[in-house]
Amino acid sequence: MVRDVDRRQVYCAEDLSAENTILVLIRPIGQLQSVVDFVLQSVWWSANSAGAPAAIGVSINRSELRSCWQPWTRRISLSPKGADLSTLCHELAHAAVTDFPPLGGSQQPDHGSHFRNLHVAIRHAVLGRQCGDDLAEVYGQFGLGSRSINPAKAHPPPWANPAFEPATYEAERRTVPGAPVVARVPQNGAGVIAL
Ligand SMILES: [Zn+2]
Repeated sequence: MVRDVDRRQVYCAEDLSAENTILVLIRPIGQLQSVVDFVLQSVWWSANSAGAPAAIGVSINRSELRSCWQPWTRRISLSPKGADLSTLCHELAHAAVTDFPPLGGSQQPDHGSHFRNLHVAIRHAVLGRQCGDDLAEVYGQFGLGSRSINPAKAHPPPWANPAFEPATYEAERRTVPGAPVVARVPQNGAGVIAL
């Protein structure tokens, strides 16, 4: 077991990068499932996955606080307060760690650099290049090394065909800092935990 020393800082960096963006909007479970299906069917995922990509289910749990990836059932289980793209990307990055060959072969902490690289790449695959790059920048500010993973040769990068139009994200990040985004549910105050 490797000590997961970066966990809290990962949560903080993630919250900061998602603040005041559409990443924190609560969404219908069907839409979140569609996003997962789309990313799994992408050329990027299949080019990097160790085997043929297997389906991943998305469900809502009854927990007030906790969301998690369950590798044994291949389910992403979201708290009702975590039914948003920020939490989904976090859990989908854990799923990518399960499916993608580890870099260098050594065992990594749950929220170590392999996870963070894939977390950035998942943001790229869901909302486009800027969204992933913004997360990578905040990771850098927190002293957590991260970079986009190198796509396999002759395969497109994760931002080549994102699940959402990148303009969807980029338009929202131009909102005035601190201004509420419609339907936003504050997360930091609620103490939502994405495991
Ligand atoms: Zn986690």
